[in-house]
Amino acid sequence: MSGFRLMAVHAHPDDESSKGAATTARYAAEGHEVMVLTLTGGERGDILNPAMDVPGVRDRISEVRQEEMAEAARILGVKQRWLGFVDSGLPEGDPLPPLPEGCFALVPLEESTRALVKVIREFRPHVVTTYDENGGYPHPDHIRCHEVSMAAYEAAADPEYFPEDGQPWEIKKVYYSHGFIRKRLELFQEEYERRGEPFPMADWLKKWKTERGDMMVRVTTQVTCGDYFPQRDDALRAHATQIDPNGSFFAVPLDIQQKIWPTEEFELAKTRVTTSIPETDLFAGLEEDAQK
Ligand SMILES: [Zn+2]
Repeated sequence: MSGFRLMAVHAHPDDESSKGAATTARYAAEGHEVMVLTLTGGERGDILNPAMDVPGVRDRISEVRQEEMAEAARILGVKQRWLGFVDSGLPEGDPLPPLPEGCFALVPLEESTRALVKVIREFRPHVVTTYDENGGYPHPDHIRCHEVSMAAYEAAADPEYFPEDGQPWEIKKVYYSHGFIRKRLELFQEEYERRGEPFPMADWLKKWKTERGDMMVRVTTQVTCGDYFPQRDDALRAHATQIDPNGSFFAVPLDIQQKIWPTEEFELAKTRVTTSIPETDLFAGLEEDAQK
């Protein structure tokens, strides 16, 4: 089964490499057309890698992030486009400071929806991935990414919505990407205990807030993609300003991850085709639909 189109909508450069990256690499390798659409330029991302916090990087951060993104897309084997909005930054402090003027989260939703619909009508994705209503984590651009994706799902298909912006296109399925699965870390911890070795992410797991429970209860779809974890990690490392190569993301060796948890998790949020849950494929139900 090949020849479908998948669009992964992300808020910032590097999000495509930390959320659902191995899935996009797998589908691209299997002959599907995969496009990462990055809504903002990531201009306000902090430099999180001490080795990259140097003159010549900090003063040309926009260009650096474009170069990093191009390299990550090359590694994943996907196409990539920018929607051209400006990073809102992650407001910090109490009370929170106002969002910077002109940033993506302050652009009227109608405006960003129209921009997204244009690209959707051009690329005509069968499946779109985005974030859940909480943004996966509460960055204003991530929450906006959810809002604009859901609005565009309806608008792109509406023949009366800006007909001059392209033929209407019905996206068949929309998924939320769920990267933070508590169960996954718990299983890693058990594996370390079995081996009699200290678990490198024990503190992380301990600090994990449990009020919202484990997102695993919302997962409908697990895509096997362990063979593509090396590509995922390389793509993430290509975002050198954003990723500390000594950080927790790389703490658990790939062979353990591939053995214990070789999948990425998604939640089916919208569908125009019939499918049965649980699924193992984002394109499930599309082949049958095409035959109708
Ligand atoms: Zn982000």
